This record gives sequence, structure tokens and C-alpha cells, in this order.
Amino acid sequence: MLTRDELLKHKPLIMAGPCAVESKEQITSIAEALAPMGVHVLRSQFWKPRTSAADFQGVGEAGFAWVREIKEKTGLLVATEIVDKDHIPLTHGTSDILWVGARNMQNFELLKALAKDDRPVILKRGFINTMKEWLASADYIGRERVILCERGVRTGADSMRFTLDINSALVAKHDHGMPVIADPSHTTGRRDMVPAMTLASVAAGLDGIVVEVHNDPENALSDSKQQITPETFKDLLDKVRKVYAIATGIA
Ligand code: PEP
Ligand code: MN
Repeated sequence: MLTRDELLKHKPLIMAGPCAVESKEQITSIAEALAPMGVHVLRSQFWKPRTSAADFQGVGEAGFAWVREIKEKTGLLVATEIVDKDHIPLTHGTSDILWVGARNMQNFELLKALAKDDRPVILKRGFINTMKEWLASADYIGRERVILCERGVRTGADSMRFTLDINSALVAKHDHGMPVIADPSHTTGRRDMVPAMTLASVAAGLDGIVVEVHNDPENALSDSKQQITPETFKDLLDKVRKVYAIATGIA
């Protein structure tokens, strides 16, 4: 069984993949592009929490077999967002890591159900939640299994979709001993801003990144404006490794 601390031996932890699994061809093509770059974890989102009921809701369990085949072929670890506690047992054998989305950070029944599982959990920060509330939610799951993910909050600044609160991420990391990764994709909502925010996060010495990468971003079924191509991500990763090494002294 993979533990959180084993996962964190990857410095920085690199997680990437599409906003959502859309088809076997789509997720396979993206995974095959990412694996040789040294990406550790593939975003594999089967259930999408969407603001509008009319929007794409995810492929659901139909995607499990596609991703299991990819895991076997590439060795990538798989992370999946859980939006309902009934999803947790379904993901055994497919998902090595579970994640809680921003909208569910305070879904306490979901957090209690996750406490009964044993896989690492990435806990995204709710966009109106304080750092203390974020840590309190981690306590429901058990801090030793949790990696926090700063994905931007709502502030007076409205120039991008959200504001990446590196301040809170640093306090959670240094004052509370929690590993923290950053999500520059949902923070910015703009693909042209993703590289700069990614580099800002690793320059701050955060523990990793999760970036949305799609083989055909313009035609993605969700978050089409913020996904970047594998080619762009490859260039970015070269810089990420250099900046992280300068910031932390870990090469
Ligand atoms: C996601 O990571 O796919 C997502 C929906 O992000 P968030 O929960 O941070 O909005
Ligand atoms: Mn998304």
C-alpha cells in the first residue's frame, strides 16, 4: 500500500492530467505523453462536480478500466476526486490516491468516510475557507494521510478566477508541518498564466504541483480555457525542476 510519506519522496511531487477523463483515447493519449516526462501522478477524474447541471458530469465508472490499463502500461499513480462517500469503495484497484475538491472541503460526512480508508488524500482548500478550517478538515481524515492543496481563494482581487494564497500554504507547511501542493490551473482559470503561477509555487518551496494538461485543450469538455498541452507542460517541467532546486537546495 502506498503511504503519503512514500508519495512525498518525490520532490517536488508532480501531478498532471486532464480536468476530466473524457474517453479512453483522450486519457490514454495524455497519460502516454506525461509518463516519459517523469510525472508521478495522473489526474483521473471520473465524477465532475459542476456548477451547472447541464454541463459534462464525468464518465463515471466507465472510465475505470481505461485508467487501470494505463496504470499497468505506464506505471503512473492515479488520483481521483471523490464527490460522494459511496465512490470510495468503488475506486479500490483503480485509484492510489483520493482527492477532495474545494466544494467538499467541509463535507464532513465525506471526510469521516475517508478516515476509514487507508490511501493518501489530497485535500483541496475551499475557496472561502480559512487556513484553520482547512487544517480542521484534515483532522477529520487524519493529518498523517493528508496532502493539502492550495487552489486559490476568493478575495477582493478579481483579476483572475481566484487568488493563490501562498501565504497560507507557507504557514500550513512551516508552522503546522503539513505538506502542501499548489493548483495553478484552477487558481488562474487561464492557460497563459499557468506557467508563472506554477513557478511561483515551487519558488516558494511548496511540495508539488497539480496542473491540468489536455491533448486538445480548446475542445476539452470542462475547463477548456485553463488546460495546457503536453508540449507546454514539458517546457514548464524543465523550469519547475530548476526553480525547485534553487528554492530548496534539493535537486
Ligand atoms: C479539480 O481539481 O478538478 C477541481 C474541480 O478543482 P477545485 O475542486 O479546486 O475547484
Ligand atoms: Mn478542472
